[in-house]
Amino acid sequence: MQKIEFMNLKAEYAAYKAEFDAAIQEVCTNASFIMGPQVKELEAKLAAYTGSKAAITCGSGTDALMISLMALGIGAGDEVITTPFTFIATAEVISLLGATPVFVDIDEETYNIDYKLIESRITPKTKAIIPVSLYGQPADMDEINAIAEKHGITVIEDACQSFGAVYKGRKSCNLSKIGCTSFFPSKPLGCYGDGGAIFTNDEALAAKIASLRVHGQTARYFHQYVGVNGRLDSVQAAVLNVKMKYLDEALEKRISAAKYYCDNLAGIGGIVLPKVRSDRNSVVAQFSVRVKEREKFIEHLKNAGVPTAIHYPKPLHLQAAYENLGYKAGDFPVSERVSKEIVSLPISAFITKEEQNYIIENIKKFF
Ligand SMILES: *Cc1c(COP(=O)(O)O)cnc(C)c1O
Repeated sequence: MQKIEFMNLKAEYAAYKAEFDAAIQEVCTNASFIMGPQVKELEAKLAAYTGSKAAITCGSGTDALMISLMALGIGAGDEVITTPFTFIATAEVISLLGATPVFVDIDEETYNIDYKLIESRITPKTKAIIPVSLYGQPADMDEINAIAEKHGITVIEDACQSFGAVYKGRKSCNLSKIGCTSFFPSKPLGCYGDGGAIFTNDEALAAKIASLRVHGQTARYFHQYVGVNGRLDSVQAAVLNVKMKYLDEALEKRISAAKYYCDNLAGIGGIVLPKVRSDRNSVVAQFSVRVKEREKFIEHLKNAGVPTAIHYPKPLHLQAAYENLGYKAGDFPVSERVSKEIVSLPISAFITKEEQNYIIENIKKFF
């Protein structure tokens, strides 16, 4: 029996160890722990990579979403439309600011918000839409931007899983007024702790976001807004500066590993493979398939030394934390069905053909 890693973070460190160690050491030697030159360097790289005028780093993807909503002045009495089939952070920040998340069901093929259902949920209180580019595939951003424009509301792409993805020739994070990403270690571009970034082409908004990130400060100890301590630290920026050099290569490897799974699992009737629309790609934050007898499937793979994960087992409208919103089972049937069948297989830039063959072989045995 083999023992497969779910995402090989150790292999990535080992591959570039000397560079990572030197970059981290430099921060320590210069004691430039907060807002060091590494942070500025990273922000320039992130902006250039996505084509955004501004990239403002911050403490996490959650911070990125929260600071974005703060910059738009969203709070008590406001509504923000999003998907119930996402990590809780997407909706949590809306609630933390006193606004109300309004859920809209997902598309059965891409698992992203179904834009055709958005308009019926817009009210005079709606201030923003947060589509999530789930598993690394951008949501239907053009359609969503058009709806938002018609109603005078703002779109924030939750690109926490999709940094590097391409949609109609443009990069995720730069597909709407604001884009937010996460550098949590397991994301397509991950650091060695928590981290995130906010992207926009609106310079006034960028200045407000940068200020909110540091206690609403405009000059040292002069505070224009009530903000947060939401900075990215220099060690994380140093790690990300190294990873940016190898990002495209790493993403290509993830994408080809996903293709290898798809090519080799295509004939099996009992498994629904991920579908990526032809006008975009997915950076495969997760390689998630659907299986009816999921628990047995997971057990079978576990016994063969193959780890799996579920993204996500319970849609947000059915979470205890959101009982107060008054949703019930059956409200979002696609999200509910998918959450019962979805399961993620091991993937990373460092997964080997041998490992994939072993996983594929064991999946075939199950069916
Ligand atoms: C990871 C993630 C977040 C939160 O990012 P953190 O850096 O962990 O705070 C938000 N939304 C989605 C869709 C995510 O996957």
